[in-house]
Amino acid sequence: MFNKNSTICALSTPQGIGAIGVVRLSGLDAIKITNVIFKGKDLDQQPSHTVHFGKIMKDDVLLDEVVVSIFKEPNSYTGENISEISCHGSPFIINEIIQLLISKGSVSAAPGEFTLRAFLNGKLDLSQAEAVADLISSDSKNAHKIAMHQLRGGFSNEISVLRQQLIDFASLIELELDFSEEDVEFANRDQLEALIIKTRSVLNTLIDSFSVGNAIKNGIPVAIVGKPNAGKSTLLNTLLNEDRALVTEIAGTTRDSIEDEINLEGTNFRFIDTAGIRDTNDIVESLGVKRTLEKIESASIVILLFDLTNSNVAQLKETVNEIKPALDKNDAELLMVGNKIDLNTLEKTKLEYQEIEDVLFISAKEKWNIEELQQKLIETSNLHQLTKNETIVSNIRHWDALTKADQALLKGLTGLKQNVSADFIAMDIRASLYQLGLITGDITTDDLLGNIFSRFCIGK
Ligand code: GDP
Repeated sequence: MFNKNSTICALSTPQGIGAIGVVRLSGLDAIKITNVIFKGKDLDQQPSHTVHFGKIMKDDVLLDEVVVSIFKEPNSYTGENISEISCHGSPFIINEIIQLLISKGSVSAAPGEFTLRAFLNGKLDLSQAEAVADLISSDSKNAHKIAMHQLRGGFSNEISVLRQQLIDFASLIELELDFSEEDVEFANRDQLEALIIKTRSVLNTLIDSFSVGNAIKNGIPVAIVGKPNAGKSTLLNTLLNEDRALVTEIAGTTRDSIEDEINLEGTNFRFIDTAGIRDTNDIVESLGVKRTLEKIESASIVILLFDLTNSNVAQLKETVNEIKPALDKNDAELLMVGNKIDLNTLEKTKLEYQEIEDVLFISAKEKWNIEELQQKLIETSNLHQLTKNETIVSNIRHWDALTKADQALLKGLTGLKQNVSADFIAMDIRASLYQLGLITGDITTDDLLGNIFSRFCIGK
């Protein structure tokens, strides 16, 4: 898949103008090639983990003053020799430096190739390598926490323990197959059954954590629904603007927040079908209802917004009944929110709606009770506080492998109960082991690696 003897180079900071840009090289000749274009100390003679100031010359022209960090194998990110040239972040300088490095024998890195090399050199397992991508793209406290736990090997350890126990049993059962004439039982069936049950329980906890992990990684999908003029687009703007204002208040931070997403106490909430909210002209009523139901089905939290100047309890109950099947289909939580409280008296309104449990009164326009609504969103999102050492599955590839591993074990368990012959049980355990091995990369295929690393950017 890649040439181990080659030395790769790429820009590892974002494209475009920046204060500095870092060009990274990895491979046997990384330091040697850098040394050829570097004027300063002889880098070849310097110890690992040191930093050196010098100049990059192209022919006789000074291209830039730079700082070069060197790391010698095996103590580097990739496990190979690495040099990192920190230059001024001009696209021109960066291109010139990369071209110079290529002319001296380096080659352009493929997407994710630095991390791929780290994996192939045993620096990271596969799930840790994937965590690098998640860590780089983490945009909330919880997403960061999950990625960091995975990068530190928490998830891999859990999988490795399960694999090892299963391998031990699989070997015993396979030993029986060698002595099949003699009708011996090396693998105690009761112990094996207990082990499978225990393993499945761990697998199922991990599998179940995916809904939380996925919500954290991709944001919790929230739908704002209600009749035209209820104030949906006003509320959306209020929620988004509050978030933006909060973020920019923190001096010096810029958050490339995804449009229509807010971050509350470390969790991202993603408002869905906001085009439908903003574009109020196209409401053909039947289309409106169908669209609303579809929207509810893809949400985890539904805010049903109603106009207090123009609603009553009976109508509201009817609406709830209408949307109930769609809510149930997706196990979505409903938040009932009465809007335009600025036009009503709170006491009277509370009395009027007292039969409805848990209803919140706000003014989207005057920004009243918006904090309470945010608090409700956090409570409703049902994300328990993540503990530091908890493993949460947030990668669909892992979820898929865990699910298949569990299915194979279930088959094995059923077989055990029916006293099927050892080779069938061995096959099921092997199938399960195969799936678990795919997660950590104990088992890999070129396709799998290609698939994972091609999603990385060049330079990672
Ligand atoms: P949508 O059709 O549900 O998206 O409703 P809009 O957000 O477009 O709001 C409809 C009208 O209600 C607009 O004139 C808003 O200014 C007004 N409106 C929205 N929220 C409030 C509120 O809290 N109080 C008052 N008095 N008017 C509001």
